Amino acid sequence: MKVVIVGGVAGGMSAATRLRRLSEDTEIVVLDKGPYVSFANCGLPYYLSGEISDRNDLIVESPEQLNQRFRIDVRPNTEVTDINPAKHQVTVNHDGSQDTLDYDKLILSPGSKAVIPEITGLSKANNVFTLRNIPDVDKIMNRLESHPATAAVIGAGSIGVEAVENLTNRGIKTTLIEAGDHVLPFLDFEMAGIVEKELAEHKVDVKLNTRVKQINNDQLTLSDDTVVSADIVILAVGVRPDTSLIQKVGIKTGDRGGIIVDDHYQTSEQDIYAVGDAILVKDLITNQLVSIPLASPANRQGRQVADVIMGINRRNKGGIGTAIVRTFDLGAAATGLNAKQLQSTGIDFMTVHTTNSSHAGYFPGGTPLSLKVMFDSKTGQLYGAQAVGKNSVDKRIDVLAVAIKSKMKITNLPEFELSYAPPFGSAKDPVNMIGYAGENLLEGLSENIQFDQVDEAVRNGDYLIDVRTPEELSRDGRLPNAVNIPLDSLRDHLNTIPKDKQIIVSCRSGQRSYIAERILKNDGFNVKNLDGAFLTYSAAY
Ligand code: FAD
Repeated sequence: MKVVIVGGVAGGMSAATRLRRLSEDTEIVVLDKGPYVSFANCGLPYYLSGEISDRNDLIVESPEQLNQRFRIDVRPNTEVTDINPAKHQVTVNHDGSQDTLDYDKLILSPGSKAVIPEITGLSKANNVFTLRNIPDVDKIMNRLESHPATAAVIGAGSIGVEAVENLTNRGIKTTLIEAGDHVLPFLDFEMAGIVEKELAEHKVDVKLNTRVKQINNDQLTLSDDTVVSADIVILAVGVRPDTSLIQKVGIKTGDRGGIIVDDHYQTSEQDIYAVGDAILVKDLITNQLVSIPLASPANRQGRQVADVIMGINRRNKGGIGTAIVRTFDLGAAATGLNAKQLQSTGIDFMTVHTTNSSHAGYFPGGTPLSLKVMFDSKTGQLYGAQAVGKNSVDKRIDVLAVAIKSKMKITNLPEFELSYAPPFGSAKDPVNMIGYAGENLLEGLSENIQFDQVDEAVRNGDYLIDVRTPEELSRDGRLPNAVNIPLDSLRDHLNTIPKDKQIIVSCRSGQRSYIAERILKNDGFNVKNLDGAFLTYSAAY
């Protein structure tokens, strides 16, 4: 059997090596239009600052190594320009000369390409770069050798934020321009607010709700008509499946050109399979077909399609999308659906925010870890989670990702027995804690109100009590229109609190205000806890 693979990086090379491990007598040919295969796309931003200092470290394996160990015929600089499903043949262009290649099975893993927005002057600008592969990074490094003083990054998704971090770490004054109202669209507004503060602390100029209208050499004119100087510009406004050829030959595609595959990665054409960024997968919460352009799914799918071709009954079970990004000292991560996505499904869900220490409060070095979890208002099924903090964000989001993908409920989280010793976590891990808080909501012991609802509620007559100490208020700031009654004197002030009003309680993180909520509820008051309290409110505004 001869298997031809289009694309020699995450999905394609995972398929090729798994095929070889399963079969010694299959002929495996990997074609890639680029000069490198098996390179570390995810490492590229870190080469810009020198954090990854050796360019060779970006190349995981060379064609020679792949041939020696796996007997894979790897052909870089070879672009597939046509596919003939009837003849089981592809046309390739290598260094300007055309050839055809027969296949028994064809695997497509062409990945995604950078979206290029409409900006006047963009096509003429010679200081604007995308960041997708090693040739891109070589061009950027070449430009960086002229020691630019200023940079602009257009687009605040993961790649944009990573580019900002690494350009800044190189000593370049960087502006981040984002059309949406927050950075890192996989996060919700208030969680992204924590990241925006970190960017500001590192002197990154973040411009939200802003588009670039025009590029004229090193001058960028923005939608509000201000002008930003940038000696180098990185364009990172998103990606879309790189499937124009696939669409041209009639293989069925869907949203944004993503290839439609069945449970076994088979496309609409017999013996043609597809994996990676280029395909649509079933979102396990909404059952909709979506694009999840991330490395872990691409690697898994590559391995699974090899199994399918070798007769192992492996199924594409769909995904939830789990992502993490570092921004200077902060990690920010999300899994499942965010609030915006959940709202668009019409699902009735509850939200809970907590901020706990990343490990036991009495042990030195703990840092705040903010978590957000969303779950079904009736069943408690988990739908989405986000985590932002300096330490152990990955541990918490990964635990929550497993819980969501396993269709667990908020009530399962308190049951998790997670590793604990003081340097690593807490006897009540932040994941347990958010589970307790969510369980209280689901079981009616607590009710909450969100950061973006509280101002209007107070305007409409609700009575807001902040139970922090006066010292905390003067040190950290106040909530607008809140009456200050410290928690420890709350029982002494019950007669000053109106019984006929909706009471909202807040503190720093929501933990003390939950105690206040219980005291007041037990005394007959109608009370809601400001979810995430002052920390979440002040991260947002
Ligand atoms: P790719 O790995 O992109 O490989 C596709 C290959 O197909 C390319 O080499 C391309 O040249 C080739 N090709 C396309 N068309 C043809 C053709 N017609 N003929 C021949 N060859 C063709 N994901 C994460 O999960 N975490 C991260 O931290 C992360 N960081 C990233 C940082 C950067 C800068 C980039 C660019 C991506 C990052 N990703 C990250 C995304 C991740 O790299 C991709 O999801 C993953 O590589 C997709 O695998 P793939 O096989 O579908 O496509």
